[in-house]
Amino acid sequence: MDIDKVTIIFKRGGTLYNSFLELFFPNVCTFCGKKVTKKSLCAECESILNAYYEGVEDCIDKKYYDMIICNYRYAGMLKNKMLDYKFNNKKYFSRLFGEIITDGITKNRLKADYLTVVPILSIKKFFRGYNQCEYIAAHVASLSNIKYEKNVLKKIKNNKMQSTLTAKERKENVKDVYSVVDKEKVLGKDIILIDDIFTTGATMNECAKVLKEAGANKVIAMAVLHSSK
Ligand SMILES: [Zn+2]
Repeated sequence: MDIDKVTIIFKRGGTLYNSFLELFFPNVCTFCGKKVTKKSLCAECESILNAYYEGVEDCIDKKYYDMIICNYRYAGMLKNKMLDYKFNNKKYFSRLFGEIITDGITKNRLKADYLTVVPILSIKKFFRGYNQCEYIAAHVASLSNIKYEKNVLKKIKNNKMQSTLTAKERKENVKDVYSVVDKEKVLGKDIILIDDIFTTGATMNECAKVLKEAGANKVIAMAVLHSSK
């Protein structure tokens, strides 16, 4: 076995073990480090969170999702934690992000048959070891009692990173990139679609389009943070 394969196996094994520890033993406030019991943030830090709130604006002319819920701005501490989560492998922040989405579900009294995530390419998932949205979705499912359905959508084509593109380019960049895995799972269903960051809405809208074309009744788009680029 060559060294690359061994490294990959080791990395993936290590990742799994770490995520187990990180997911089940979060007992300090994600922002300040104070001891907490039930939530990821202490009461003080949670009250600071409200300062990030702003309304969501998308750049979509023809919307396929029925509503978009995204209550916190991609800024300050939340932005730092999201970057750490996505690029520095800090999986335990997924709990905080799961709590944010769950709050949105509770406050808006949302009901759905299941929740699912915006997919990434399977090759990317293999090398990274995970899709960052899946951990968030798993927390939402355990906190909200709406089940998490995996493998509803799949990404079938590689494209450029949305964050490097203009609003107009983003719409083009996501065209024909996603498809439904099993139409039976989608037909007539009310679905909550979860993503980490919502910017122009192009990705969410494309996923919602594919779901609606496969017969979904309702698609509620929910993202952890809103970036107004
Ligand atoms: Zn705190």
